[in-house]
Amino acid sequence: MRYAIIADIHANLAAFKAVLKDIERHGEVDEFWCLGDIVGYGPDPGQCLELLRRLRHVCVAGNHDLAAIGRLDLASFNPDAAAAIRWTAQQLDPQDVQYLEGLPSVIKRDGFTLVHGSPREPVWEYLVSISSARENFAYFESPFCLVGHSHVPLVFRQAEDGICSYIPFSTDIGQVLGRSRLIINPGGVGQPRDGDPRASYAIYDSDAGVVRLYRVAYDINATQLKMMKQNLPVRLSVRLAHGV
Ligand code: ZN
Repeated sequence: MRYAIIADIHANLAAFKAVLKDIERHGEVDEFWCLGDIVGYGPDPGQCLELLRRLRHVCVAGNHDLAAIGRLDLASFNPDAAAAIRWTAQQLDPQDVQYLEGLPSVIKRDGFTLVHGSPREPVWEYLVSISSARENFAYFESPFCLVGHSHVPLVFRQAEDGICSYIPFSTDIGQVLGRSRLIINPGGVGQPRDGDPRASYAIYDSDAGVVRLYRVAYDINATQLKMMKQNLPVRLSVRLAHGV
């Protein structure tokens, strides 16, 4: 089986479409695994939701998804993010709201646990340090876990002796699944934050036992122009060009 792993689309239709095209170029996938934050920040929440719904997929809820339907308090977001969420909430039709309301926080699939933030705090925790990774390995039972939320591609490994390490996740080399437990972040589709503005995603090939990272350029300017037209915070559109 081949699974496409996508996270943090953030209503960036140009990035999402570029990723789908790139996935197609690498061959068929059996299912899409989406790690949440489909909406928020970007200018195309409705279209991104519609496009995702058309794919054979499973998806967990992200903090922006929940905030956009009033399930999370906006006080916990920074002012730019909160402004974008308020705008997003006005764009959603009843079908969008119903879809977002139905998203679970945790999904188990083929040896993987899927969450947005972390297995300990599925919606909120940023899993970016070895110390938090070490604690989080106790919060899921499957061999592997997929997280989004930080928009930074990375891998944490817990070896058989329990020792945790950080492994850079780059497009050069696939992450082979062995006996060590892993927490993997495929980076963000719609708002990368690792200094590389290209959209980020991964493909898991279960026959080969490999998760591979891919980066794909998209028309950043097209997304920025739409954001300006909708009066979304300027800082949110500027950061897209820098991948931060
Ligand atoms: Zn996000």
